[in-house]
Amino acid sequence: MTASTVHIDQGEAIAAIATPVGAGALAVVRISGRGVFDIAQRVFRKAGDPDFLFSRSKGYRAHFGTMHDREGLIDEVIALVFRSPNSFTMEDSIEFSCHGGPVVVKHILQVLLDEGCRLAEPGEFTRRAFLNGRIDLLQAEAIGEMIHARTESAFRTAVTQMQGTLSARLDAMRERLLHSCALLELELDFSEEDVEFQSRTELEEELATLQDELRKLIDSYRHGRLLKEGVATVIAGKPNAGKSTLLNALLGEERAIVSHMPGTTRDYIEECFIHEKTMFRLTDTAGLREVDEEIEHEGVIRSYRKISQADLILYLVDISGEELSGDISRIRQFQEEYPEARMIVAANKIDLAADASEQIAMLRNAAGCEVCGISAAKGEGIEGLLHLMATMVEGLDKIHEASVLVTSLRHYEALRNASDALDNAKMLIESGEGTELIAFELRSSLDYVGEITGKVVNEEILNLIFDRFCIGK
Ligand code: GDP
Repeated sequence: MTASTVHIDQGEAIAAIATPVGAGALAVVRISGRGVFDIAQRVFRKAGDPDFLFSRSKGYRAHFGTMHDREGLIDEVIALVFRSPNSFTMEDSIEFSCHGGPVVVKHILQVLLDEGCRLAEPGEFTRRAFLNGRIDLLQAEAIGEMIHARTESAFRTAVTQMQGTLSARLDAMRERLLHSCALLELELDFSEEDVEFQSRTELEEELATLQDELRKLIDSYRHGRLLKEGVATVIAGKPNAGKSTLLNALLGEERAIVSHMPGTTRDYIEECFIHEKTMFRLTDTAGLREVDEEIEHEGVIRSYRKISQADLILYLVDISGEELSGDISRIRQFQEEYPEARMIVAANKIDLAADASEQIAMLRNAAGCEVCGISAAKGEGIEGLLHLMATMVEGLDKIHEASVLVTSLRHYEALRNASDALDNAKMLIESGEGTELIAFELRSSLDYVGEITGKVVNEEILNLIFDRFCIGK
């Protein structure tokens, strides 16, 4: 499909301010859709060219001139013209660069609205780019992620996604699934003749290869999420060890509830902060202990789920008097059950402990991992702990150029569903089930993969994605 042969059904003319609110050196107002050239013609005068017509402008062009409303001159602007399909939305579009004062920008937007544009919805330009085939859904989401990226690695990951590497992998996978599906469906058409267009062994091999591909992508989510959302850091420990106090100390703000009552952190609290260029996503879990009370019990289950997904576990021990054997066995249990997570033991309440250094040495010996002494309440040792955290996870947020990463929960879940459907298909083949059932599972796997790039369009998913964008994007 070459640009010159594409025909785009242009949507209603829309307009929006594309740059952030507030004063700046420059700002951009963009318009796109049916009739935008005529609309612009009525409010723009090109310098030194009274006969200028937007409708004659080719490909991409920049024109210097002035914008006017009924009262007169608004501002000097540069109009960047993009003739369909050579624009982001693939429709006729113009971007007006003007002076960045909020009043000027609003004036320009208003005159375009008065002349027939309507105000764009959040993400509407990107939605059109997707609907007109300029980008796929993954790339549209990557644009959103790039804008919201808070760290360099999150930004880089989004850029890679925008370039379409993951999309290409998924498209190739879809092609192969589609091929197997088509062969099965052909069998159904010839069902009376009892033919197999692809032997069951071949089909099983093909599905195993695809399953392998899917699993690699599913497994990459751990790293992908880390790059996008930060190092998943869970603060664990017994009730009253000082977890909420530590969370506050690390964040430097009062965010979690601190209380004397055991078990007040019923659920978990999540906050992000950046230290030494690494983003940490910090979770304070409910106290770990056996409880009967229902809400709290649910909290404990969630704590364990959070710990199982952690990249870094900060295990907090109260060394001010309590017996430590329970903590030690729990630390060992975590090390065994979650070998992928790194662990730091923070020996808390050193301000109360008479023999802090002995206790720390004992913990270090017993736990066989990094132990640092802190007082969460007094803020002692917090800088040291932060530095240790950054050192422990160094390199975790590196991007491996060659690897394709899944960074979004939506994609991860769709891949899991696609993989489950392939598992079902495999079981059906093994138990000698009929073609129809196998074909159904392959179709559903195909649909799940298609949902990711937007080959299978689901209005609800589109709304979820584009509503998160700002107006003008
Ligand atoms: P959580 O149940 O583990 O979240 O524990 P909290 O953060 O609610 O703390 C329990 C109690 O221990 C509160 O009264 C805190 O003020 C107190 N506490 C926490 N850290 C320290 C500390 O380093 N020194 C002292 N003296 N008290 C602390």
